[in-house]
Amino acid sequence: MASDGRREQNIRLIIEMEDRIAQCKRCKSLLSCIRKPSMGKGDLEPDMILVFENESKAAQNSDKLLELREMIKSEFNASKIYHTFMVRCQPKACAIRSNTSCYLENKKLIDRDYKCLLSGKSCEGIPIKPADDNIIHCLPFLLEELEILDPRIVILFGDRVSDFVLKSYGIFKEVNTGDAFYDSIGRLFIAVPSTEEFSIEECHKLRDHILIDENLA
Ligand code: SF4
Repeated sequence: MASDGRREQNIRLIIEMEDRIAQCKRCKSLLSCIRKPSMGKGDLEPDMILVFENESKAAQNSDKLLELREMIKSEFNASKIYHTFMVRCQPKACAIRSNTSCYLENKKLIDRDYKCLLSGKSCEGIPIKPADDNIIHCLPFLLEELEILDPRIVILFGDRVSDFVLKSYGIFKEVNTGDAFYDSIGRLFIAVPSTEEFSIEECHKLRDHILIDENLA
């Protein structure tokens, strides 16, 4: 398909998927304290997709996320990069919510300005890691996104992202940081450390993997 046609199709399919994500209620307990689920961002005909576990670790620290994207872009001289999340709704631990009546379960407890309706102050919930159930519920959206955008390279940040995504593609080997795998259609997956631990040295190692891949191509 011509590039313009493919881009238009990708935009249409991504918008349609994001509408479903915005309506999704599979993880009811996560919905009270978020305004909206996290969506992917970047080039819609990407060569490379970066996958983070959830937004708390990456995008809430937007400086870190931008720094990381820029590091990868300049290392590979690549502009067609997209990033996304394995779990879209950020789980939070909150003492105020856990002390309130169960009648408030499944009610939105946060307003447009991110103020808590219970305390009247800014949300004080502490971002925590998603449970395995949340990952299993949300993973189909990520797999759909990868199928739509069809990148040649997928970078998996952190052990849990690597584990769940690779198993979804039928890769059940033990995964160590820096390992690279191909799926059945030859797409390259590379397991890298989590965002907090990802450094310029890791970026150089990533480059080595991709150069090997290009030599094989
Ligand atoms: S985390 Fe994913 S599966 Fe769970 S409610 Fe949010 S969008 Fe739906």
